[in-house]
Formats: sequence, C-alpha cells, structure tokens
Amino acid sequence: MKTNIKKKYKFQSEIKKLLHIMIHSLYSNKEIFIRELISNASDAIDKLKFKYISKPEKYINNKKMYIRIKINKKKKKISIQDNGIGMTKKETIKNLGTIAKSGTKKFISSMKKKKKNNKLIGKFGVGFYSSFIVSKLVQVKTKKSLKKKKKPILWESKGKGKYSISYTKKKKYGTKVTLKIKKKEKIFLESWKIKNIIKKYSDHISTPIEIYKYDEKNKKYFWEKINKAKSLWTLNKNKITKKQYKNFYKYISNDNLNPMIWIHNKIEGNITYISLLYIPKKYNINIWNKKNKNGLKLYINRIYIMNNAKIFIPNYLRFIKGILDSQNLPLNISREILQNNNIVNKIKINLTKKILNMLKELTNKKKKYEKFWKEFGIILKEGPAEDLENKKKICNLLRFASFKNKTEKQNLSFKKYIKNMQKNQKKIFFFTCDNYKIGIKSPHLEIFKKKNIDVLILSDKIDEWMMNNIKEIKGIKLQSISKLNNTLKNIINENNITNNKKNKKFIKKIKKILKNKIKNVYLSKRLTKTPAIVISDDKDISTQMSKLFIAAGQNIKPLKYIFEINIKHKIIKYIKNINNIKIFKKWIKILFYQALLMERGTLENPNKYIKNINKLLILNYIK
Ligand code: ADP
Ligand code: MG
Repeated sequence: MKTNIKKKYKFQSEIKKLLHIMIHSLYSNKEIFIRELISNASDAIDKLKFKYISKPEKYINNKKMYIRIKINKKKKKISIQDNGIGMTKKETIKNLGTIAKSGTKKFISSMKKKKKNNKLIGKFGVGFYSSFIVSKLVQVKTKKSLKKKKKPILWESKGKGKYSISYTKKKKYGTKVTLKIKKKEKIFLESWKIKNIIKKYSDHISTPIEIYKYDEKNKKYFWEKINKAKSLWTLNKNKITKKQYKNFYKYISNDNLNPMIWIHNKIEGNITYISLLYIPKKYNINIWNKKNKNGLKLYINRIYIMNNAKIFIPNYLRFIKGILDSQNLPLNISREILQNNNIVNKIKINLTKKILNMLKELTNKKKKYEKFWKEFGIILKEGPAEDLENKKKICNLLRFASFKNKTEKQNLSFKKYIKNMQKNQKKIFFFTCDNYKIGIKSPHLEIFKKKNIDVLILSDKIDEWMMNNIKEIKGIKLQSISKLNNTLKNIINENNITNNKKNKKFIKKIKKILKNKIKNVYLSKRLTKTPAIVISDDKDISTQMSKLFIAAGQNIKPLKYIFEINIKHKIIKYIKNINNIKIFKKWIKILFYQALLMERGTLENPNKYIKNINKLLILNYIK
C-alpha cells in the first residue's frame, strides 16, 4: 500500500482570479456561503436519489437523507455534512480545482463582461468557493456512494492558489465540508445566526437540514431539524390538500386570510418550471409599494433566489403571490441578468397567459369574480395600456357600472353591454366622473336615459386613461358622452335647432356675455330636467382629464366648454323674454356657473356665484 502523502495542486488560474474577486468584493453578502454549501449538499443528495432509481437493488429502504451542521465554537469550526453522492479523487480534483460547467463558470464570464461592477456580485450565487470569504481553511472529506473500492478523500485549501489532496478515513458515504472560520467572522459560529440564514434561503430544501444541539434538560446532544424540508410546489397536485395550499399561501405571503384562488402548474419541455400562483382575498396597501416584499418568490431547483421576482409578472398583475421554481435559470442569477433573459421572457409570457385564463374562469363564478374585481379591478385596469399582446383578453375581464345596470357595483362586461345595445347604436358610450352617485345624476345622461341607450359610468381615476387606450372593442368605438362630436350630435339631435330668428338673437346675446369664457353656445332639446350644461369640445381634453392634470400639479389652461342650453326649460323660456340687459346678464352668468359647477364639482369663485343668486332671489321674492 502506498503511503498517504499530501499531494499539492495549483488552482486553475481562473479560480485564483475568482477567489480574489470574491474575497475582496463579497463583503456585504457573506452569509450566502451557507446557501451555497447547502445547495451543493442538496444537489449531491438529489444525485444519489437519482442513482437509486436506476439501481433499485442498492436502494436501502428508509435510508434517511440529511444535511447536518455542526458548530465547534472552541475550534472556530463549522461543518456541513451530507450523505449524498460524494466524490472520487478524480472528481474532487475536477470539481473543486477547475471550473465546473455550471454556476461558477457563468459567474466568471459575467464578471468579465461587467468588469468591476461590485454591486452586482453580492447578488450572485457563487458556489463552493464562497466558503473562502469567511474561512481561513476549508477541508472537504468525501466518500463516493455506491462505490466501495474508492477511498475517502481529504481536500484542503487556504484559498490562496493551492490545494492539497490526501486519503483519509471516513465511514459514511457523502461529503463533509469543514470551515475554519476567520476571527472577524466569528458571528457565523452562532447557531442562531446559522439557523436564520437557513430559514431565509433554504427553508424549502426538501432534505432535512439539522443542526447539532445540546439539550439542557436531558443533558445530551441531538439533531434539531431547522427547515420545513418540504417543497410543497414540487409535490403532485392530487397529493396536496386544499388546506395545505392555503397554509402554504399564508406562510409565503404573510397574509392572515386564505387566498381567493390559486393555480399550480408543472411545465416540462424546453423550459422546465413549476409555478404556484395565488390571488389574495384582500387588497394590500403594499401593492403600491415598490418594496412590496411578498410577491412572486423565485426558486431555482428548490433553492431560494429572491423574494419579489417582479420581472416574471406584468405590473398590472402585481397582486399575484406565489412561487416560481425554474430549472433553466443558473443559480448565479441576479436581477440585472434576469432583465434581458430569454427564458425569463418566455416564462413571463406563459405565466401571464395562465393568470389571465385563471381570471377568465373565475368570471364564471359571478360572486367570486365581483369580489376579485372590487379588490383588484383597479390594478387590472392598467392592463390594456401595458400589455398590447393580451389587450383583448384583459378587456374581456373588465367590469363597469352603468346607468341601466342600476347598481354602483362594477359588474357589467363589455360583452354584455354590446349585447344590450340599441339597434342603431354604433358606439359604446361612457361617462367619466368623480363618483358613481354624482355621475348617475349628471345631466349629460338625460338624453341617453330618455332614449334608453346605456352609458358606462366610470369613476376611477384611471378610467379615462384606460378608455383612451382601449379605443374600441370588437370594432365598436368607445365614445365619451361629455365630449361633443358628430355621433353625439346625432344622438342628441340638436343640429338644426338654432335656425329660427329669435333663437339666433338669443344665442348672440349669450355669446356676448360669456365671450372668452366659452367656445360656443348651442341650444338643445336633449336635456329634460336641467336648464343648461357645459360640454367639452371633441378636440379638447375632457373634464376628468383636466382634473387629473391639475391634481398632478401641471399648469394647464382652463378648459373652454361649449355651453348648451335647454330651449324647452321653463327658466330658459323665462330668460329669453327678459329685456332688462342687466338682469339678463345675471341670469346667464348664474346658468353658466351652475353648469360649470355640475361639470367640475367646484368653482373657482363660489362667492361671486352665490352673491349673484342671492341678488336675483331678492329681486324676485323680497320686496
Ligand atoms: P455548482 O454547484 O454550480 O456546480 P459549485 O462551485 O457550488 O458549483 O460546486 C462545484 C462542484 O463540486 C459541483 O458541481 C459538484 O460536482 C461538486 N460538489 C460540491 N459540493 C459537493 C458535495 N457536497 N457533494 C458532492 N459534490 C459536490
Ligand atoms: Mg453549487
């Protein structure tokens, strides 16, 4: 037998570079070495399990797989041990002395591309070598599973360009990595610290992760399991109960309510991933918060990568929570890398489709969908502008209030609106306002009520913008009823009213009084209860839009409206015959500001308006 001498090797030059970068740049995220070593141990166990599948005769029933962590504070050592596949001498040299095909190699190539971008590094999974960030010395004892003749190997390195290999004694199969922790990193010898790191990154590793602990009561050591050791999403759908799904949701979302619905999918093929997506029951204010922590969690092969992987879900679906576990993405992924990744884009397209389909199905459950819409409709309304690909699908999911629908609830779809359109109705009419209760009473609606043509009542801030983005549904154009164009003129049938002489004179008089406050004056028959309204010109922005601009602090010119007068109204008939020009003027001004107040909900100078009214009241009633 050969004597066991330590043989010295040099690291590949690239590894030397890597070690240098890592030790000098990863100061902010040192703790990830635990994640990396556990991830390797977990891989090794998966590999062994896979071997067992192909060699059932070697399968030892009830063989307990584990990842075990032992801390020795005195000796400043921490060890991570697995009973996975292990390595032969040849494999050890190859895997720990040269750059393996996977993780580490990609890290290096991206480091080359983005020279010295230190900020990036902290986000990487950097593999086995990250153990040198906190260690003076790293020892790996490993024994190859299922190969009795292979001798156990001891690999040792101080991370300074060289490593050594010798034979050693090791009874059990698998690998034990022991780190001699640097003095200034002694925090990693605290078991609470290690536990926290494991909880944070590796809770869903399916193998139990155990830590060696002293039981004060029974005066003996035992292995305490730290992780949940169950990746629910990897289980077969029909093996998971509703209750389990619900509990899991609460766990990942920090929500104390159950979810509304969920979908769980396994996609295999070019891109392999599992997604478990939930819609919460209630809106959470964090949806608007950029740091919304509990969105979609990204795992790669059950290893936790990041918390709010926004990039996989379009913004207008940001209420979705859940898990994405992909096999195609490299562990060393960063948010920056995710941004231009083809696989990411494909997954995003698929997830979006899945979610929209889930919502489509939910529309069949009226009550449930109403609840969903009440909570998240306002977010979904961003969809038509954001996602042109799926615009049609999103539009089918939109719900509205309308005057014929007779409820403040938004539960009318475009489809139903179109089905109930009048025979010669060529457009979908909508009216934007501050709230439903005011909107439903607006004089703009009078003619539509009279003709029994339905109008969507839109009272969310985003509505006007959304409708402008949708433009048409199934070839039917959307039309705001507070903007005067030809379609509306046809509906309200007021083109030819002004022809008679007396009316023409009346209009002229009004125009003279309101001169630069208005665009034009029309006489109309369309109003029933209201003497006068103002309406926007088709070329101008609408009232709601101008209010949004003003609210956003933009300096815009005051809107000039078209002043529309109800020729059949008692007041108008009365005014028409007033000869005293002073009193006539007062009446017209009151009518105009009244109309403006109805349209905008506020007046620039309410005092003046009220003074004018009072003057008229006194004139007429108080002698
Ligand atoms: P990666 O995990 O991305 O391949 P690492 O640097 O983390 O890169 O590990 C390099 C290689 O070393 C692994 O691919 C694996 O073959 C081997 N290895 C590391 N740790 C273990 C272990 N605990 N058991 C068996 N093999 C391991
Ligand atoms: Mg690894």
